[in-house]
Amino acid sequence: MFQEEIAQVVETLRSGWWGTGAKAHEFEAEFAKYIGCKHAIALNSATAGLHLALDVLGVRSGDEVITTPLTFVSTVNVIVHRGARPVFADVDPATWNIDPAEIEKKITPKTKVVIPVHLHGRPCDMAAITAVAKKYRLYVVEDAAHATEAWYKGQKIGSISDFTAFSFYATKNLATGEGGMLTTNNQPWAEEARIKSLHGISKDAWKRYSSAGFTPYEAIYAGYKYNMPDLTASLGLPQLKRLEKNLAIRRRYWKLMDRALSDIEEIGLPPDEEAGTVHARHLYAILLRLDRLKIPRNQFINALQTEGIGAGIHFEPVHLHKFYREKYGFKKGQFPNAEYIGERTVSLPFYPHMSEQDVNDVIEAVRKIVEYYRK
Ligand SMILES: *Cc1c(COP(=O)(O)O)cnc(C)c1O
Repeated sequence: MFQEEIAQVVETLRSGWWGTGAKAHEFEAEFAKYIGCKHAIALNSATAGLHLALDVLGVRSGDEVITTPLTFVSTVNVIVHRGARPVFADVDPATWNIDPAEIEKKITPKTKVVIPVHLHGRPCDMAAITAVAKKYRLYVVEDAAHATEAWYKGQKIGSISDFTAFSFYATKNLATGEGGMLTTNNQPWAEEARIKSLHGISKDAWKRYSSAGFTPYEAIYAGYKYNMPDLTASLGLPQLKRLEKNLAIRRRYWKLMDRALSDIEEIGLPPDEEAGTVHARHLYAILLRLDRLKIPRNQFINALQTEGIGAGIHFEPVHLHKFYREKYGFKKGQFPNAEYIGERTVSLPFYPHMSEQDVNDVIEAVRKIVEYYRK
């Protein structure tokens, strides 16, 4: 397993250049080609990408940024990092993604950016979100941490909005341990994001020692340390080549799970792929009908653990986390759809390296626990 990754990493080690250089730039070029966007900037995380996007778009204190409560905390943390105010718009219970009509209700003269999150890899309603953004002159920054392979009606995710951030964290569909990519079609923004990703200095180290001859660097922004090293890019290049093959496996396993679980009344299935879109199928999450079960969600997850099945929660709504409750006064009841899903969702193991037998084991464990604990 991972023979190509091992070969690439060894090649990079032997080259003597372990920082950001030729491999990172090759990965950027290949990723941009895969997405069909003009610019891709390799970073050390998706969080870095979201933060840089908000920085380049000039988000600052006094601004408001609208996003979904049903996401990983980092989507919202970056808004706070800019000194701006996070504003939540509830999700659509049918799609689990941010509801464009709710976005429109939350817009004020201070609103600057909308961050849709393609939850579990299912693309958001980008036509409606883009229309609302246009109407109120807002920027759109997509959190595509789950959605590297996704398409929305003939457009690849990553080629549509002002910026899109992808994650290559260890559990993601393209996994380099840590890593991310920021895409945009805007050349000056790409240039600024790239410079800010490496301390804000005007020439990166690779170029400073290139054949063009030595030139001293100069800080033109107070930048960050967000660049991707070549060792990471060496893992990303072969992973990128396997994405579509893995998606085909995920698609097959998704159907297997759907078919096997559809007759269990105590369980709701994840929203399916919308016509004209491609679902990246990053996570397969079921909804527990808690009114029909004798145990709460966490105990259901413990019971799965006892059966040897590791499950997770994606996500507990961000507005209910301690920091957000205390700092902004968010309360339970404010975003009922996100809360309903957040209390009931269970992500089952769902990886392309699972065998069909592994998938059946997951299905059987879920069935066994439901049968034992049904009311
Ligand atoms: C994983 C994840 C992130 C953060 O990705 P990193 O690369 O770890 O920074 C952001 N948003 C969502 C929805 C995620 O799942």
